[in-house]
Amino acid sequence: MTNGTPCGQPPQRPLTTWQHGRVTAATHSTLFPQVPDSADAVLDGLDPEQREVALALGGPVCVLAGAGTGKTRAITHRIAYGVRAGILQPTTVLAVTFTNRAAGEMRGRLRQLGATGVQARTFHSAALRQLQYFWPKAVGGELPRLVERKVQLVAEAAARCGIRLDRNELRDATSEIEWAKVTQTVPADYPAAVVKTQRDAPRDPAELSQIYAMYEQLKRDRSVIDFEDVLLLTVGILQDRHDIAEHVRRQYQHFVVDEYQDVSPLQQRLLDLWLGERDDLCVVGDAGQTIYSFTGATPDHLLHFRTRHPDATVVKLVRDYRSTPQVVHLANGLLSQARGKAAEHRLELVSQRDKGPEPVYTEYADEPAEAEGTARRIRELIAAGVPAGEIAVLYRVNSQSEVYEQALADAGVPYQLRGAERFFDRPEVREAGVALRGAARAGGNDSLLDGADDLPSEVRAVLSTKGWTSKPPAGSGAVRDRWESLAALVRLAEDFEQARPGATLSDLVAELDERAAAQHAPTVQGVTLASLHSAKGLEWDAAFLVGLTEGMMPIAYAKTDEQVEEERRLLYVGVTRARFHLSLSWALSRSPGGRGNRRATRFLNGLRPGSAALGTRGGAGGGGGIDRGSRAGAGAAGTQTPARPGRRGPVRCRVCGKTLTEAGEMKLMRCEDCPSDMDEALYERLREWRADRAKEISQPAYCVFTDKTLMAIAEAAPGTEGELVVIAGVGNRKLTRFGADVLAICAGRTLGQEPGEGDGEV
Ligand code: ATP
Ligand code: MG
Repeated sequence: MTNGTPCGQPPQRPLTTWQHGRVTAATHSTLFPQVPDSADAVLDGLDPEQREVALALGGPVCVLAGAGTGKTRAITHRIAYGVRAGILQPTTVLAVTFTNRAAGEMRGRLRQLGATGVQARTFHSAALRQLQYFWPKAVGGELPRLVERKVQLVAEAAARCGIRLDRNELRDATSEIEWAKVTQTVPADYPAAVVKTQRDAPRDPAELSQIYAMYEQLKRDRSVIDFEDVLLLTVGILQDRHDIAEHVRRQYQHFVVDEYQDVSPLQQRLLDLWLGERDDLCVVGDAGQTIYSFTGATPDHLLHFRTRHPDATVVKLVRDYRSTPQVVHLANGLLSQARGKAAEHRLELVSQRDKGPEPVYTEYADEPAEAEGTARRIRELIAAGVPAGEIAVLYRVNSQSEVYEQALADAGVPYQLRGAERFFDRPEVREAGVALRGAARAGGNDSLLDGADDLPSEVRAVLSTKGWTSKPPAGSGAVRDRWESLAALVRLAEDFEQARPGATLSDLVAELDERAAAQHAPTVQGVTLASLHSAKGLEWDAAFLVGLTEGMMPIAYAKTDEQVEEERRLLYVGVTRARFHLSLSWALSRSPGGRGNRRATRFLNGLRPGSAALGTRGGAGGGGGIDRGSRAGAGAAGTQTPARPGRRGPVRCRVCGKTLTEAGEMKLMRCEDCPSDMDEALYERLREWRADRAKEISQPAYCVFTDKTLMAIAEAAPGTEGELVVIAGVGNRKLTRFGADVLAICAGRTLGQEPGEGDGEV
C-alpha cells in the first residue's frame, strides 16, 4: 500500500523491484510505514473528496465510486482520523466489510494509521461474536457448534433421502442450500422460489428440497448450526430481545460498511437492528461491482441511500489511483457496454498513474496449454522482478484452479490458494511465537543464538528448531505449508530489521503480538490463485484473468439479462484488480485435441483487438494485439507453446477408454478410480532420483516432476524420448533437462551407464 501523497497529487506508488531491479527503501517503508504523527497527518494521504469523507464524521455518509478510487482508503482514514482526533472512541466503531481477507486488510491499514481497538469484521464474524456472547442469556446454554464439514452433512442428508451425489453434484447441492438460506427460503418453498427467480437448479428442485429439509433436520439432531444460521439467529435475537439490542447499541455507535453494493436484505436488516434510531453510518460502494445479486444482494440500498437519509453527505470519487490508463481504458470500455441499474450510475474512471503496458489477450488451443502459457508468462514476470506475491491468477469458478496449480508447480512457481487471514492461527505460527518469545526472554543467553549477530539470524536460529531450513522441503504437502509459514516469519524479521535497524528480538515479538491481535498477516510470497468473487477489493501488480470463454464468462447458467450483466460486472471487478500488467486469456477446447469450437467471451467484443465492435460503443482495446501463438492448428507464426506431440485427439483413459477432462487424470492418462498398472519399484526409484535432483538444483521436488507426472512415467515406463515427451508434465524443457536420467532409470540402468553397458554383453 502507498503511504499517501499530498492531497490531489497523482500518487507515486512505491518503486518496486520490477521498476528498478532492486528492492528500494520505499518498499520497506511500505511494509512498515511510519505511523502518521497526528490526526491531521492522517488526512495528508487523501485527495479533496476523500478528505471530505474523512471529515464528515457523525452523520450519514455515502460514497459512490468506481474501482480503485480509494473508497476503502477513504473509510479507513476516516476512522483513523476520528480516533486520532479523539472524536471517535475506538471500541464504539464497527467497520463491516465483505470477506475475512478484506477485514484483515482493513485492520492492518487501521493499525498502520495508529488506530487500534476498532472492530473491523465481516457481517458474519460480527454476528457470530454477538451470538456467542448473548446466546446463554437469550436461549440458554452454549451456542451450538458451527458445523465443520457442511458438505459431508449434505452428503449424509442426500444418502438418507436415497439420493447418491457425486463430488460435483454434492458441491452444487450445497451451494443451492446456501442460496435458499440467504434468500430466507425454507425447504418447502424452494421449488416455487426456483420458478419465481428463473433459477437454473442443478437438479430436480423437489429432490433438492428433500435434501435441504433433511439437512436442517440433521443439524437440529446434532445441535449444530451452519454459517447462514449465524445471521438468521442474530437477527432473530436482536428483533425479539430489546434489552439485548440496546446492549449492542450501547457498545457500537459508529458504523462503516465497505462494498455496500453487495449487502443482502438479511445483512441490511442486521445493520438496521444495530443502528436502531441512529444514523451514524458511512457506506461506500460501487454499483458497477455488484457481484452477489445471486445471493439476494442488491445495490438499491446504496443507490437509494439519500432517499432513506435525506441529509446524507454524498461523495463521488473518480480518480483511479490503482491502475494504469491502459487498464482503466479497458475497465471503462467494459462498463460502457453494461446495461441495467448499475450501468445508469456508471462513473467513468480517470487513471492517475503513468502509462503502462497494454492488456495482453491470448487465445490458446486448450486449457492445459492456457495454464502452461500463463505459468510461463508468470515465470517471465518473476524473472523480470515482479514479486510472486504481487501476481494473481483469477478465474470464474474454483474448480478451474487445479490445472493452474499443476502448471505453476510444474513451472516451479510458488502459489497460494488460501487467504492471509488465519496466518496467526496456524499451529506452526503459534509454536514459532512461543519459541521466539522464550528466546527473547532469555535475552540472547540462549546457546542457539550464539553467533547470530543480527535479528534475522536470531530468528532463523530459533525457527530452525521448529522446522525452518534455508531451503524449502521437497513436495507440496503439509510439510511445505508449515515451512512456508515459518519462511514468512523469517521474511517479516528481515523486513522489520530493514525498517527499524537495531531492533531486538523483543521488539519483533511485540510486533508479532500486535499483528496477531490485529490479524495482520505477513504476505505469503506466492502467486495468488483466486476466484473473481473472492478477489473483490484486492489488488495486484499483475492479474491474469483466465478461462474467458463463453460458458465460463458469462457462466453457462447465467440466462437472464440481469444474470449476464452480473457476469459482465464480475469481469470488470477482475480487470480492475490489476495495477500494471493485465492479461486476459481463453482456450478454444477444454482438452488437447478437442474440437476447438469455443469462443472468447462476448464481453470483450469491440474491446479486444480484432473483435467485432458492438454497436457504436467500445473499441477500447488499444494497441494490445491478440497473441495467437499457442493456438494449435492455427498455423500462426511465432508459436510459443511447444507442440504437444502425440496429443492430437482427446485424452482417453488407457484403462477404460473414457474421455478425460480433469487435469490430474489427464496427467495420469487414466481415471483416478481405474486400476493402476504402475511398476511400484520403478516409481520408488524415480522418487529417490527426484529427491536427489531437487537437492542438487536447490528446488522443491515438484519442480523436477510432480507426483502425478512421476506416477504417469512409472506407469508408462517409456523406452524412448518420444514416449517420454508425450507424458503430460514432461514437455520439451524437462525432456532436455531430465530425459536421459529418467529413461535410464526406466531401462533399469544405473545413472551414468550407457545403454548396453552392464547387461552382460561386452
Ligand atoms: P475497490 O473498488 O476495488 O474496492 P477502492 O475504491 O476501495 O477499490 P482502494 O483499495 O482504497 O480503492 O485504493 C486503491 C489503491 O489506490 C490503493 O493502493 C490505495 O492505497 C491507492 N490510493 C487511493 N487513494 C489514494 C490517494 N489519495 N493517494 C495515493 N494512493 C491512493
Ligand atoms: Mg475497496
